[in-house]
Amino acid sequence: MKDLFTPDYMFASYREVTPAFLSSLGIKAVLSDIDNTLAPYEQPDPDEEHKAWIEALRAAGIAVALVSNNHADRVERFNAPLGLDAYPDSHKPSSKTLRVAMEALGVTPAETVMLGDQLLTDSYAGKHTGLTSVIVPPIKDKTNLFFRFKRLCERPFIRKYAKQHGYKDFMKFWKIKNTTEGNQP
Ligand SMILES: [Mg+2]
Repeated sequence: MKDLFTPDYMFASYREVTPAFLSSLGIKAVLSDIDNTLAPYEQPDPDEEHKAWIEALRAAGIAVALVSNNHADRVERFNAPLGLDAYPDSHKPSSKTLRVAMEALGVTPAETVMLGDQLLTDSYAGKHTGLTSVIVPPIKDKTNLFFRFKRLCERPFIRKYAKQHGYKDFMKFWKIKNTTEGNQP
């Protein structure tokens, strides 16, 4: 069975998703989650770093659209100073909004990245729609039981990614240890 949860790529932060990296993959558009990917829940407005990141991508011919499962008030306020295509209530992992966003930008799934912090919604939505999935650790996760359970479900897939691509420090978030450490000569 095809694994639709394990991210294609992982980075410590959205800021590390650079124009050079995206261009090397032939990417022309990034569909980005907002909450815990670009900003914590309690940050209603984008900051200068968001603006700089979006502008750097735009300069390289890479568009950004916001695809969030959060409601319109959150998404519209965050997007107001940015002026991007923005889609609230996206119902990820459904493909529907991802397809609408790609059509609006005139890009194909092969030219598009889904950027998010959750494997079961963002990574899965991207991969089963034919996009490249890029996952970052949540900026500031909720600590309720439901979110803890979701993170527990993600662990085997993060562990698999670590095995394939090497351990990164930010994987501590999922309580994954660097199993290669003890094997060093
Ligand atoms: Mg999120």
